[in-house]
Amino acid sequence: MSRSRNEPIEWAGVKHAAGLPVFEPGWVWLVGAGPGDPGLLTLHALNALNQADVVLYDALVDESILALAGQQASCIYAGKRSGDGATQQQVTDGMVALAREGKRVLRLKGGDPFVFGRGGEEALALVSAQIPFRIVPGVTSGIGGLAYAGIPATHRDINHVVSFVTGHMAGGDVPDTVNWRALGEASPVIVIYMGLKHIGRIATEIIAAGRSAEVPVAIISNATTAKQLVIETTLARAQADASASGIRGPALIVVGDAVRLRPGLDWLSAALHGRKLEADPLGKSRLRKKSAGALPVS
Ligand code: SAH
Repeated sequence: MSRSRNEPIEWAGVKHAAGLPVFEPGWVWLVGAGPGDPGLLTLHALNALNQADVVLYDALVDESILALAGQQASCIYAGKRSGDGATQQQVTDGMVALAREGKRVLRLKGGDPFVFGRGGEEALALVSAQIPFRIVPGVTSGIGGLAYAGIPATHRDINHVVSFVTGHMAGGDVPDTVNWRALGEASPVIVIYMGLKHIGRIATEIIAAGRSAEVPVAIISNATTAKQLVIETTLARAQADASASGIRGPALIVVGDAVRLRPGLDWLSAALHGRKLEADPLGKSRLRKKSAGALPVS
């Protein structure tokens, strides 16, 4: 398709150029909405919003994203925040019933549906009900949220491993299925979802794994939205600083030296508040002069 350079590309053109699929009646699309900023939606997600008859959305889906649904779409809240909403069974039953009525059902979840999002469970319920479905991945908050906080998930001088872990079980406790000590030893950078409530206990476990109490920690709440807030602290001070600041969920906790790159990479604060960025936040040039050795990894 040829297009003159400055001509804006229309949605019909995008659809055609990207080969986006038709949303057939009776199908369910399980779609990741990304962490909040509508600009982080995929074309598949936008295509789904355009065609859906019903949008079943979760608590973490931003209103500005629902505003992109077509006029024909009814948006129904299907979240489970603090036990007020529907149960998982009611959500899957509702999804199946709507699909059987011949509706195009968009199940819209925050971040990525397969990352701490129960997408697998819901898709398996569709398999057993013999409802055809499509999965549309989204930018998970553990990636997108970090990028908006100026923290790279990996950086060659810091880590060759990154772990994504949940700090919360269905029952509300810290998961006992997570081996925090092994994780603390093996993973220089740890990104914790749903961990704010248990931040003190998690920090204690990671210190017990042999990590320094001074390892930097960032807490990122409402990442990629206008309400984004980032706090920098350490393992030792994480709980005290979190409660003193009054920071609220949804929040991610990032543990590890990747947080030390923020003074160089906090592009959002630079753009919004004129933060001056440092070109060498790890002090590599200083270290190189001293020893010509590798950076220590804590
Ligand atoms: N499927 C989602 C995660 C759902 S679990 C994803 O891929 O991102 C819910 C947790 O995700 C929250 O408790 C929080 O830890 C994290 N989260 C989701 N959106 C967030 C956001 N905008 N800012 C900070 N954390 C977020």
